[in-house]
Amino acid sequence: MQFAIPPQPQAAVPVAGSDKVFPVHRIYCVGRNYVEHAKEMGGTGREAPFFFMKPADAVLPVPHGTTGEMPFPGMTNDLHHEIELVAALGKGGKNIPASAALEHVWGYAVGLDMTRRDLQGEAKKLGRPWCTGKGFDYSAPIAPIHPVAETGHFSKGTIRLDVNGATRQSSDVEKLIWNIAETIEHLSKYYELRAGDLIFTGTPAGVAAVAPGDLLEGAIEGLGELRVKII
Ligand code: MN
Repeated sequence: MQFAIPPQPQAAVPVAGSDKVFPVHRIYCVGRNYVEHAKEMGGTGREAPFFFMKPADAVLPVPHGTTGEMPFPGMTNDLHHEIELVAALGKGGKNIPASAALEHVWGYAVGLDMTRRDLQGEAKKLGRPWCTGKGFDYSAPIAPIHPVAETGHFSKGTIRLDVNGATRQSSDVEKLIWNIAETIEHLSKYYELRAGDLIFTGTPAGVAAVAPGDLLEGAIEGLGELRVKII
């Protein structure tokens, strides 16, 4: 097969402790998956899970020990941080039962679901898609992926985000409304999942705005840190 024009490079994320990279197929995100965040966004905290997507090349990979640089995007005056546990799939499938779902997870990472909240809010109000609010360039900063073989699965552990040294978000992964296995079960009813898919599993309460010059430092217990500067 010959491409008519050169294909874009494969989006990829470093693998922790390795010179390999994890090829990204799709990026799925779960909305409102911590009760306190669901409430701050105007929900009751008890809805069934819902999903949205970012393009694969929205990833901003941040290698270990470095600080990523995220350009402040256009068309917004309200760029928000959402610190999230990310599951990286090594095996695909559809209609995957929760009881077998964790076998599909290859690894985990610390990620940020960066959000143009003003555009998302307007889309909600007008019944329009969320794409411009959620799925823009560099909207998915992500630290290296740690293989499950080394970390095990995550049912608990602190999740935190500091901005310029002050804690903005602080919770525990055990407070996910829909855990990783249940999330995969629901998501795989809507889409055939593939090896290479990333799932951003939702953010705890405390989302707020950032500005150029701000330093975001996220961490999940057992997964290390993600540092991103807004430029
Ligand atoms: Mn999110």
